[in-house]
Amino acid sequence: MKCKMLVPLNLDICPNCNNRDFSEEWEGMVVIFDVEKSLIAKRLNISKPGRYAVKLRA
Ligand SMILES: [Zn+2]
Repeated sequence: MKCKMLVPLNLDICPNCNNRDFSEEWEGMVVIFDVEKSLIAKRLNISKPGRYAVKLRA
């Protein structure tokens, strides 16, 4: 939830930010390949490539 990265449901800790707060309520998926060139990555404050949720409904 903290970093918006989408992780497999069988993980109980986020491999990106080591946070344990997860939400199953989210909308829109983006795949970031190049953080430097992606405007979406900048807007979502993403610093690592991966799959992310655009919007979380906490
Ligand atoms: Zn995270």
